[in-house]
Amino acid sequence: MSEHRRPAHAADFELGNWSVAFKDRRLEASFQRQELPVARASLRVATTFFCVAFLTISLFHFGLSGERPAIAVLCAWLVSVLSAAFGLYAVHVCKESVCVVRCVATIVETIGIGTFLLTVWQQPPDASWTGLAMCVILFVVYVLIPNSLLLTQALAALSTALFLVVAASVERLSGPSLSTLTIWLVLANSAGVIAARRHHKSARDQYRAYRLLSQLSIRDHLTGCFNRRYLDEVLLSTELDRCRRHQHCLGAILCDIDHFKAVNDSYGHASGDTVLQKFASILLLNTRQHVDSVVRYGGEEFLVLLPDTTIDQTIALAERFRRLFEASRTAAGHGCDIGATASFGVACTPWPVGDEDWHENLIVAADAQLYRAKRNGRNQVQATDAAIAVDTMSTAPTHFSNGAGVR
Ligand code: GH3
Ligand code: MG
Ligand code: MG
Repeated sequence: MSEHRRPAHAADFELGNWSVAFKDRRLEASFQRQELPVARASLRVATTFFCVAFLTISLFHFGLSGERPAIAVLCAWLVSVLSAAFGLYAVHVCKESVCVVRCVATIVETIGIGTFLLTVWQQPPDASWTGLAMCVILFVVYVLIPNSLLLTQALAALSTALFLVVAASVERLSGPSLSTLTIWLVLANSAGVIAARRHHKSARDQYRAYRLLSQLSIRDHLTGCFNRRYLDEVLLSTELDRCRRHQHCLGAILCDIDHFKAVNDSYGHASGDTVLQKFASILLLNTRQHVDSVVRYGGEEFLVLLPDTTIDQTIALAERFRRLFEASRTAAGHGCDIGATASFGVACTPWPVGDEDWHENLIVAADAQLYRAKRNGRNQVQATDAAIAVDTMSTAPTHFSNGAGVR
């Protein structure tokens, strides 16, 4: 949720030319986390495939040729199968780790390719067989094994070069057949690079569309703040659960622009929209990124949620908002500026939060204080500890400020 703190734009999703990964590292990390279940499933398939295909091809070869495998080859098989089994286990146990998936992918493919090269070197089968097997291995590396594109390309290129060296030395390939094998492997690598780039790009395109759509569904278009539906369905319960878990209090500021109807009537709705945007930007710029949340609660009403914030800190912040907005001017065209003020109602959950239904209570308490601020003349902060407010909503507030700071 917190990563949606700032509205995303299409430009934020730029991809690196070579890496085909998001240039923004946070975004790439979040994409990797989202893709983790797919990467795990893909690695499970690739590892099992590597293991089964390698054993089958090798056993078939030795069965046909009637040769006994060399000790080194037997040991390499064993290491290969054990590493694949261990990789499967690690991926199963570490469900949440992108790093584990990538390490397992790199280790399993390195050991698998190494074992294949050792087999070719120690027990050379005929050239067409090994060339074909190498093409299948390249396909698995490029398409099935989830890893970064640069690492995939480097591993594939290195193993192709080593394979050609091994094949040339053990099979004493003549010039023309070595050239033919090289051409086939270059073609296989080219096709692999194209397929892998396409796969990396389309996965990220999908993620970008998902992120932009989810932004649209949780943000208010005019101000960039969270919308009311996101507050009701996700944000408030998430924040209350979090403050229960960490045993801290949650501050809430409900604010409303004063006499906003008069602004619209005097300057027009377009200018009214600009004032709304100015007010929202003051709230967004003066709250903690990835921690606090600013919600457009109604037409010209906003709710600010402040995790791990005491009542005094919440009042101080509301007072800061009030002063900044009072001092700001919004250009309304034709050379005239609009000045406006806002009223603020502050409430805070008690610490620690009990099992009471704070979903309703916190906002009701802040709302009561906002109306008190309106009744007392507007352009001021009224606050009460929410725990007190629920019982004494209609009696005197515990804090009050109007331009002279918090008293
Ligand atoms: P008070 O100080 O008591 O809050 O008075 P007010 O005039 O601000 O409150 P009232 O509820 O009478 O009017 C709110 C106005 O906000 C009416 C509505 O047209 C305007 N409004 C609501 N949403 C938008 C919007 O998105 N853009 C514009 N320009 N105006 C809006
Ligand atoms: Mg108003
Ligand atoms: Mg209002």
